[in-house]
This record gives sequence, C-alpha cells and structure tokens, in this order.
Amino acid sequence: MTAGPADPCEPTPRPQEGVVSWNINTACNYRCGYCTQRFKEDRNRWSRDTPRFLEAFARLPGRWEVKLSGGEPFVQPTLEGIVAGLAALGHRISIVTNFSAPREKLEAFVAAAAGRVGVFSCSLHLPYVDGDDELDGFFRKAAWLQAELQAAHARAETPARAGAPADLPRPRVCVTTVATRDALPRLGDLARRSKAAGLPFKLQPEKQDREVIRYTDGEERTILALGGHNFTGRIVHRFEGRPCWAGSRYFILDDEGTAYRCYPARRFRVERMGRFIAQGFRLADVPSPCLYAACNCTVPIARGMMPLAGLEASRIDFEEDLS
Ligand code: SF4
Ligand code: SF4
Repeated sequence: MTAGPADPCEPTPRPQEGVVSWNINTACNYRCGYCTQRFKEDRNRWSRDTPRFLEAFARLPGRWEVKLSGGEPFVQPTLEGIVAGLAALGHRISIVTNFSAPREKLEAFVAAAAGRVGVFSCSLHLPYVDGDDELDGFFRKAAWLQAELQAAHARAETPARAGAPADLPRPRVCVTTVATRDALPRLGDLARRSKAAGLPFKLQPEKQDREVIRYTDGEERTILALGGHNFTGRIVHRFEGRPCWAGSRYFILDDEGTAYRCYPARRFRVERMGRFIAQGFRLADVPSPCLYAACNCTVPIARGMMPLAGLEASRIDFEEDLS
C-alpha cells in the first residue's frame, strides 16, 4: 500500500480492478460471542437467486474481485454454483470463512474457482479451535489449501475480461483472528505458528455495539506490533472528507441483492446504491468525499482507494498481502 497523493484532497488513481464484498448469507454454524451479526433477527438467510446475481455480475465493467463472506459462506447450499459462475465470467473470487468446512468441500471450491481465487481468509475462532492438536490441524489444513490453490492457479485456462488488468495475481491464503482481550496474550504464539506454516497472520479489532472496543495503550501496542487491523498499520482509520472510490470501484452487497457504498454506509442506512440485481443498477463514475468518522473497510484501504497522506506509514509492507 502506498500513501497515494501528498494532498489528502486529491483522489488516488482509478483502481484497475473493482472489488465487491458480498455477504451471501446470514447463516453460520458457529455462534461467536464477539460476532458483529449476533443480534441479527434472521440468521438463516441466504442468497437464493444465483442466476440473477450472476447476470448482474456479468454487467459489471471489466474484472472484479468478488469477496464472499457471510455468515459463513461454506454453509451456503449454492456456493459452488456461485463460484463457478463468477469464474466463468472472468472475475476473481476471494472468501472469508471460519474454515470449519471439511477438505472435500474445500476441494470442490478450488475446482469451481478454476484458478481464479484472490485471497482465501481462514478466520481462526479460538472458542472453536483450541488446544495444540486442533491449532496444528488448523494451520496444516490452511497450508495444504494454499498448495491446492496455487496448483489450480498454475493450471488455469479461464477467460480474460475486456477492460480488465492482464495479470491474474496468485491466490493467497491468510489466517485472521479477532483480537479479543482473552486472545491478546496468545497472539504472539499464533503469529509464530502462522509464519511457520508460511501464511500471513492478520488481526481484526474486537467490536461491541459496532464500535471498536477501548483497548489500553499496552493492548494497542500488541495489536500494532502485529500490523494493526488487517496489516493496515492502524486500529481505526479516519478519512472523513477525503475522496474515496467506494461507490465506484468498491461496494458491498447483501444476501438480498441490495448494494451500499461501504460498511459504514450500510450501518447508517445512507448512500444506498439500490438493487444490484436490477437492470438499472449504476456505479458512480468518480470518487466522492467520505462521510464517515471512522472507516473499517480494509479492502478499499489496502487497495489505495483513498489518499492516506498525513497518516504514518504502515510498519508492514503488505503490498503483496491485500486483505
Ligand atoms: S464464524 Fe463469523 S459469522 Fe459465524 S458466528 Fe463466528 S464471527 Fe459470526
Ligand atoms: S468509510 Fe472508508 S470505504 Fe467508506 S467512504 Fe469512507 S473512506 Fe471510503
């Protein structure tokens, strides 16, 4: 990640590849105490109309990275069809999962993605993966998956997309965990295990009532020493007033097909972009000022969609390691 223009009012260059974060369901086989969705009334919803979603993805200009999350994407009955459809359209597929799916399901995902995986994020939920054996198994499985994805990428012969960047970046597996107060003393050990498995280890700050919890100075130092939120070098970001490409080269999509500019926009129910699956869906042509006091959208941050001038540089070069 680079700081972009020196003037924080000047937009960054137009990102070649767009990114959409698609929460394909609210269903999950876990019930983590820190889950930001735990108060949702309906935790059994899932995107049902795959053909209509794929038609809408076919209308997007150029190649997009479609980042699938939920809920838990691997409990979605139509996951393989969605992934195969996106790959056939020439997009790339990233995914965030609690990584509880068995190897057979992961193999089916690898086959469906046909070499077009971007980032595969394995969320380590310590209440469900504990003890040395289970932890070893988690990291072994993640390292195995990395090898499978890279072999599939090397074999890939899938379509390019007009107006898209020519390169197809290599897939990357990373391990993430939520930096709860209980987890903080264990983070150093987990980071070492991840490194030994050849995988980046990223942190997400814990949120309560949708706000990052108040860490002590010492707790913040622990998190920052491991790269901050998803290697962005900070725990909370503030870009209010700065031009941002979210709404044009990035947006979020829910399981029912409604699009918002970014996560804070959805939270406050503003900057609704309408029905993605409707013919009339439109992306903004140009970047526009950020309206929010805090930004927790590490996907557009890592892809340089807003100027970072005036912020300290990250301690970790994560150019190769986008969230
Ligand atoms: S695995 Fe993720 S979606 Fe499921 S309960 Fe835990 S934090 Fe929530
Ligand atoms: S909150 Fe973040 S992603 Fe959303 S408009 Fe502001 S800077 Fe962009």
